[in-house]
Amino acid sequence: MEKIPELYGCNVFNDAIMRDKLPKDVYKALKKTIQKGTHLELDVANAVAIAMKEWAVENGATHFTHWFQPLTGYTAEKHDSFIAPTDNGQIIMEFSGKELVKGEPDASSFPSGGIRATFEARGYTAWDPSSPAFIKDGTLYIPTAFCSYTGEALDKKTPLLRSMDALNAQAVKMLKLLGNDDVEFVATTVGPEQEYFLIDKNDYAKRRDLIFTGRTLLGSAPPKGQEMDDHYFGALRPRVAAYMHDLDKELWKLGIPAKTKHNEVAPAQHELAPVFDTTNVAVDHNQLTMELMKTVAEKHGLVCLLHEKPFAGINGSGKHNNWSMTTDSGVNLLDPGKTPADNTQFLVFLTAVIKAVDEYADMMRLSVASAGNDHRLGANEAPPAIISIFLGDELTGVIDSIKNDTFFKKDDKVVMEMGANVIPHFTKDNTDRNRTSPFAFTGNKFEFRSLGSSASVATPNIILNTAVAQALSEFYETLKDVSKDKLDEAIHALIKDTLIKHERIIFNGNGYTDEWVSEAEKRGLYNLKSTPDVLPRLLDEKNIKLFTGQGIYTETELRSRYEILIENYCRIIHIEACTLKEMIYHDFSPAVLKLMDSLSSSIIAKKKISDAIPSSAEEKLLKSVSAKFDELGSAVEKLEADIAKAETMDEGLDLAKFYHDPVFTDMQEVRRLADCIESVIPDEFLPYPTYSKLLFYV
Ligand code: ADP
Ligand code: MG
Repeated sequence: MEKIPELYGCNVFNDAIMRDKLPKDVYKALKKTIQKGTHLELDVANAVAIAMKEWAVENGATHFTHWFQPLTGYTAEKHDSFIAPTDNGQIIMEFSGKELVKGEPDASSFPSGGIRATFEARGYTAWDPSSPAFIKDGTLYIPTAFCSYTGEALDKKTPLLRSMDALNAQAVKMLKLLGNDDVEFVATTVGPEQEYFLIDKNDYAKRRDLIFTGRTLLGSAPPKGQEMDDHYFGALRPRVAAYMHDLDKELWKLGIPAKTKHNEVAPAQHELAPVFDTTNVAVDHNQLTMELMKTVAEKHGLVCLLHEKPFAGINGSGKHNNWSMTTDSGVNLLDPGKTPADNTQFLVFLTAVIKAVDEYADMMRLSVASAGNDHRLGANEAPPAIISIFLGDELTGVIDSIKNDTFFKKDDKVVMEMGANVIPHFTKDNTDRNRTSPFAFTGNKFEFRSLGSSASVATPNIILNTAVAQALSEFYETLKDVSKDKLDEAIHALIKDTLIKHERIIFNGNGYTDEWVSEAEKRGLYNLKSTPDVLPRLLDEKNIKLFTGQGIYTETELRSRYEILIENYCRIIHIEACTLKEMIYHDFSPAVLKLMDSLSSSIIAKKKISDAIPSSAEEKLLKSVSAKFDELGSAVEKLEADIAKAETMDEGLDLAKFYHDPVFTDMQEVRRLADCIESVIPDEFLPYPTYSKLLFYV
């Protein structure tokens, strides 16, 4: 038996190793940078580099890489070996502070949204000491930020770190104003729950839709889907259990605290949740988790699908971003304590979040927008596209009493009686679960539930941190000149005013209903249904002001991101449309022809023998398949014509809209017809596995 505590973090340059390997003053300086975000001097970096290399080489590493997160949504790495030739023809293993701190990858092939022309190819990667380095496959990985030669961020980590700085600055200022003088630092924390599908590798290899787009573009519904609710939390099948076990171990080695695993709602769907961490580390860990989910799957003859909607008709995959703020002494600022109504500090921060989410609901929506996630939001399997906040009964009671100047009486915690003596009694949580809300208070944190499964969690957290920092800074402006004796009164008035102004964003009901859609419209909330609907919001004046004002993005950076988002959306739909076309011609139509052939041969053969042998079943089927196949032909023609038209259009929002409708709409029509025919095609005629085979045989 391996001992898990020894395994855990064995490939991480972690605190214990740093303490052991670094001179005391160096360790102290580094620790300060990690915990309080302070600047790190080069001589410290030099000392760290020596220790890091020593540790890495001892643990079998031969190379190092600056690991970064360009705007592709994936991670990028370029490996350099530690070797340095000596005069006598031998080598030594070398690694300097400069190599640790700065890298110079050619940036020209990463998306920059027009920031950097290819002739200015230089980019820099810069060490992020607040995320621990680790060894993977014989290489030392150094988490880094990535920027252009002129200093613009070309990645997701830089704005994320900036947003954490902004929130830290505003939160500390506010806490001090509230009389909390000891606080030096506030960090945001994140625990992302990750959903995924597992299918057999051989099945995967036969489907070009999965290979090229990550999702199935065709496939008629199996006789059974998720309607029996028998998969959610169901017993793990041996092959899946072995995979999860292996995955946990690989994650633990990298110091990723994988904690919870279970089967999800849809067949072949599962979930993994780690223990939460500082946002920056949690984001890096989630990227690594997604990568390991895929590589470990290969070893088990499986493929892990992270797409938001791999299969039509059953739930897709998302990610729940659990988020809170914590002080350097470990106080969770969103913990209501025993008496939330009397907890001014909690109420100030809670109110700031409510204001932030209401004012920047469009940016929250944007932060989860992608072609893949468009399939889920508003489809009654994930939260609606309308952003709202669920607070639960108790907090809503507290808030109502503040708004109405009435006294809040907390119900005593209700003891749960299960009606069986052997079961110990426990108290009920103060919020029930509401699965339909995009942004739910869950006891001592908010859970942002609209995220897609494949995307980096950086962007939603950048927006949350920034919007809350902005709300806090406005609160501070209102309160900063109030005299001490009037402060309580002023805070109360501020909370009350803010709640009255922003109560429209609070909704505790069922977010899946049509009533909510019309109610939200009455309240003036955004309902931005598709990615092309949301994207222009990024360049709205209020939002440019937010991001530039808080120092998160320059206007140039924002505009470049806008371009990249549009470009990405167009490319994804384009690839999907072309793949669908290819699949229809190369895989699907031959199967339909085979079916029609065999039906015709049977009819002719029978007729040859005698007119008396009935063949009306074959004739009926042949007629109906032929008619549908004809319709399919026209639908594919229309799809082809629209793809061709798109190819002549200029890049930009209009093209994105064109890809959404008509191109994507065409694809749905092609699929509707093809799926209709597929339901009568024998499995052996199809060159790829059906939904039944994909979903129920792992
Ligand atoms: P669910 O009930 O939604 O399935 P889980 O228990 O699976 O919730 O996941 C909850 C997640 O929230 C875990 O990753 C947990 O570590 C995280 N979490 C708990 N407290 C905090 C906090 N203060 N800040 C951020 N995340 C937190
Ligand atoms: Mg959850």
